[in-house]
Amino acid sequence: MSIPEQDWQAAVTAIADAEQAVISCHVHPDGDALGSALALHRALANTGRKAVVSFSEPFTVAPHYRFLPGLDRLTPPDQVPAAADLFVCFDAGSLDRLGSLVDAFEGAARTVVVDHHASNTRFGDINLIDPASPASAVLCRELLRRLGLPLDRDIATCLYTGLVTDTGRFQYQATSPDTHRLAAELLAAGVEQYEVAKAVFETNRIGYLRLVADALGQLVQVPEASLVWTRVGLADLAAHGVDMEETEGLIDLVRTDGASDVAAVLKEQPDGTWKVSLRSKGATDVGRIATRFGGGGHKFAAGFTTELDPEATVAAVVEAVTGHATSPLAR
Ligand code: AMP
Ligand code: MN
Ligand code: MN
Repeated sequence: MSIPEQDWQAAVTAIADAEQAVISCHVHPDGDALGSALALHRALANTGRKAVVSFSEPFTVAPHYRFLPGLDRLTPPDQVPAAADLFVCFDAGSLDRLGSLVDAFEGAARTVVVDHHASNTRFGDINLIDPASPASAVLCRELLRRLGLPLDRDIATCLYTGLVTDTGRFQYQATSPDTHRLAAELLAAGVEQYEVAKAVFETNRIGYLRLVADALGQLVQVPEASLVWTRVGLADLAAHGVDMEETEGLIDLVRTDGASDVAAVLKEQPDGTWKVSLRSKGATDVGRIATRFGGGGHKFAAGFTTELDPEATVAAVVEAVTGHATSPLAR
């Protein structure tokens, strides 16, 4: 693990010394962000420690994560202490990813940033950043171990959810023997893995499936960039009665196009901007491209938001891919 020992110790001391900690994660939290934040919160609460767990507006949990234990303990972001003695955030690569909690972060006496994005800007007083880690949940588990806070079934379920989602069910590049050892430890702590799998991967509404059919029907391949893309507009959501938070899994279907290294899904936001999800099978550093367009992410999974229309956005991505290929495969 590439995190210096003194940083772990500084984080442990900061958390152990805090009267009241605020725990959070990035906006529109995914399984890793929510799972890590809820896990630390429950572990502290189990030992009688005062802590608040929250995330930014829009303060809604995506349907696939509504089974997570501890959602009832979330504090709305406008009730988060403005000047806590400690703020711990998970899975956020930069300060702006905290959304409406940026002020609470800046108002805290001490801050700890726990994350695995290569693009992390190290915006905390203490930074536990390991880009080789497949999930922030892995770093959260190590933090709990060092704090001497034991796992229980609910904590393990939160951490397992982060692990299974960020590794793409243990298949992405960062998955290692240690990943499986942690999964085994969490299952042994009582995680009902099939319940997690069912909730996260096996439960879609029929409207979502029909929206997927439309989106896949509109796939466009751009062979010169080894890229495939589609879009989901607000009108598509309305036509099928689907919320944008339900469409997180669409990119995982699109990326299976065997002829393309890069996959892109463009999602229209209520303000008319487009959120772009990028994935690569290994030939293209999409994190670099997303960072260049004002977003961020990992080498092979990244995103950004743009005011350009979809055609212009894809043209810009195609240009970036053909100019930034790390292997001839991407051409
Ligand atoms: P997504 O495509 O939304 O699943 O995101 C893939 C990865 O890119 C995640 O690790 C996100 O944290 C990151 N990411 C997505 N959108 C942004 C953004 N606008 N700014 C920074 N990072 C992002
Ligand atoms: Mn995340
Ligand atoms: Mn993550």
